[in-house]
This record gives sequence, structure tokens and C-alpha cells, in this order.
Amino acid sequence: MRTYDCVCGNRLFFDNSQCLNCEREVGWCPACARIAALEPLAEGGYRCTYEDCGAALLKCLNYSEHQVCNRMVAMQGDIAEGEGEASALCDCCRYNDVVPDLSIPGHLERWAALEAAKRRLFYTLDLLGLPHGTPEESVEPPLSFSFMADAMPDAGLWRTTAGTDKVYTGHAEGHITINVKEADDVERERLRIDMNESHRTLIGHFRHEIGHYYWDVLVKGRDEENSRRLFGDHDNPTYSEALERYYDQGPPENWQERFVSAYATMHPWEDFAETFAFYLDIVSVIDTARNLGLSRVEHDDRLSSVLSAFQQVGLAVNELNRDMGLTDLVPEVITPAIRDKLEYIHGVIGACTKGKHR
Ligand SMILES: [Zn+2]
Ligand SMILES: [Zn+2]
Ligand SMILES: [Zn+2]
Ligand SMILES: [Zn+2]
Repeated sequence: MRTYDCVCGNRLFFDNSQCLNCEREVGWCPACARIAALEPLAEGGYRCTYEDCGAALLKCLNYSEHQVCNRMVAMQGDIAEGEGEASALCDCCRYNDVVPDLSIPGHLERWAALEAAKRRLFYTLDLLGLPHGTPEESVEPPLSFSFMADAMPDAGLWRTTAGTDKVYTGHAEGHITINVKEADDVERERLRIDMNESHRTLIGHFRHEIGHYYWDVLVKGRDEENSRRLFGDHDNPTYSEALERYYDQGPPENWQERFVSAYATMHPWEDFAETFAFYLDIVSVIDTARNLGLSRVEHDDRLSSVLSAFQQVGLAVNELNRDMGLTDLVPEVITPAIRDKLEYIHGVIGACTKGKHR
């Protein structure tokens, strides 16, 4: 992630919706792909204040109505009332199918945390040039998100969202569901300890689920043989057999030699998603490190350079985190087996995004 500049000279960050120095409102300008200070226009809407841009913008509906977004949409020539509303969702919010029930206390804050993580996900996907799209566009399968809560006892009654009692975070044919409780810090930390995980974060959930999505986009029916060689046979055992076995027996001994997490041992699809999530972690850290002047390596350099830069930066941040009593940022070792899987993902992404520019 990089940082941006306010017209007042202050530094702006990706999550900002206001400059903390001059108090101007700020937002993501889709025309120049930067966080920009916003100049209100007399006729309504805003102008991007970067001199080399100046695009006319409107706030995303989720920004103006709920303050859970900080993105802008390009102002069309004439926005008719109803049409303007429909088209006023930004390039991240337009993927939402179900959003949290805002009549439940705490849901607005959790939704904001979910959206912030989702925007960061899209920043990395766009950095990599990975395709994603809605049903109107030609990307298959189209992508969508639902943020839903388990049924809750409410004044003696059970309240359900979208007709289901229990919501499972997961992916199915381009549709990603995230349980809203994952945006609750106390709940998520409890689950992390229950599941014996080194990390459990909202952005991590998005990166994992999008890993399943990109298995469908990049591997399914295209490169399954190569995937099988590294991740194992995804057809045998079946997913439900593997799930049952995992919850019955747990991960195999010494799983750390071949897998990025215990959960990755469950089924080749989970291994791919966990490794893909780790790959996005790496790309994101490398991009930020380069923008902050901590490293010169680019995310699309050779994987060996990327990994050694990641570990070099990681070593420093791990020590800083230990100074502050926080968990480690990066694992100390990336084994040869894990490196091979990352190399595969680096390769399929490279092939996909280079093909597009040809
Ligand atoms: Zn400012
Ligand atoms: Zn702009
Ligand atoms: Zn938005
Ligand atoms: Zn999964």
C-alpha cells in the first residue's frame, strides 16, 4: 500500500475519509486511483484536487449514507434520480449481495471493518491485474459478497438473516460469504485461539475466500493437472470426506513441512486457498515495503527475490512486533514444498495477467 497527498501537504492514508490536518473530506478517486482531497462543487458532487486529474466525482452510496466506504464514483454527464443511485456504488461496494442488518447494534461498525478489509483486498487484486467482475461483465464466474450474521436471540425472538440460522464463512461459485462476527475483535481472537491459528484477521478471510474464487478462474478446467501435482488430487477424497476426516483426526504430523497452516491439510482446495492467501500477504507486504522505501523489489519480480525481500522485511517487523508484545508478522521459514506451491501461484497469476496485456 502507498500513501497519498492532501492539497494542504499532509499525508493521506488508504483508509482515510478526512484529512486530519485541514479536515477536508477525502476519498478514493477512480479516475487517478489515489486517495484525493475532495473539493465540493456548487452544482453538487466533488472534484478530485490532484492537478493532473480534476475528475468530477460523487460519493459511493455506502460512503454518503453509511460512512462504511471512502470511495468515489465518476460523475456521469446527467445523473437521473433513480439511475444515479443504482450506479452510485463504487467499484468495491458494487459486489455486495447482502449487507449486515443495521438495526442490530454493532453491525454498522462491523460492516465498516468488513468493507475496509475488502477495499484492501481489491487494491492488491488490481495491483496484480487479476480479473474480477459482475454478471454484466465477461468474467466467469461473476464475483459477489454477502456479510451475514448468525440468528440471534432478540427480545425473546430469534432473528434470522436471509432465512438461515447459522452462517458459514465460505465461497461457492464466485459468491463469498463472511460471518459478521469475524469483524468482532473479541469473537475473532477467541476463534483464533480455539483453532490454534497464528493469525486470524478479516483481511485474511477475504484473501482465503478469494483464493477459492481464483482456483475457479485460473485453475479449474485449465490447469488442474499441474495443480494436482503440487496440492494433491482435489477429486479424491471428496471435499466432504476430507472435511469429516480433518475434524475427526486433525492435521497430519509435521504438517509444517508441506503446508502454510494446519487447515491447509484438510483438502487440496483449502491448501490452494491458504497458499493463495499467503501469496497475497506477501504481495501486499512487498508493495508497502517498496512504497515506504524499505525494499526495491517489485511484487512481479522473480519469486526468489520476492521471498527474500519478504523475509528480510519480515525479520525486522517481527522484532519490532516482539518489542511491542504483538504476534509475528511473517513465518520464520518458508519450506521448499511451500515455496513450490507459491511458485505455481506466482506463475498462474503471471500467465493470466501477461496474457491480458498481449
Ligand atoms: Zn489536508
Ligand atoms: Zn483523481
Ligand atoms: Zn463503496
Ligand atoms: Zn476455504
